Amino acid sequence: MPLSRDYVSQMVLQRFPCGCAIEQLADNSHSITYCSKHKAAPEMYEALSDIKTRFAFAVDKPTIQDEQCYDRAAKALAKAEGK
Ligand SMILES: [Zn+2]
Repeated sequence: MPLSRDYVSQMVLQRFPCGCAIEQLADNSHSITYCSKHKAAPEMYEALSDIKTRFAFAVDKPTIQDEQCYDRAAKALAKAEGK
């Protein structure tokens, strides 16, 4: 039976407020353990991208709040893309 990841973990070098952690393993390599929010980031990115694409078809007469929500989504996607 292989050792669990926690067993071979040597020490936490840095833990972020969100729960993500950088660990140094017994062989001196490093490992990142993501919190649940950051672990889900790729799926959230794809879902938000789909929502943004469908927004124009789903909302005939967007309110100011709808447009602000769309702009926030577009900015978050652009940030994730490094733009
Ligand atoms: Zn995190």
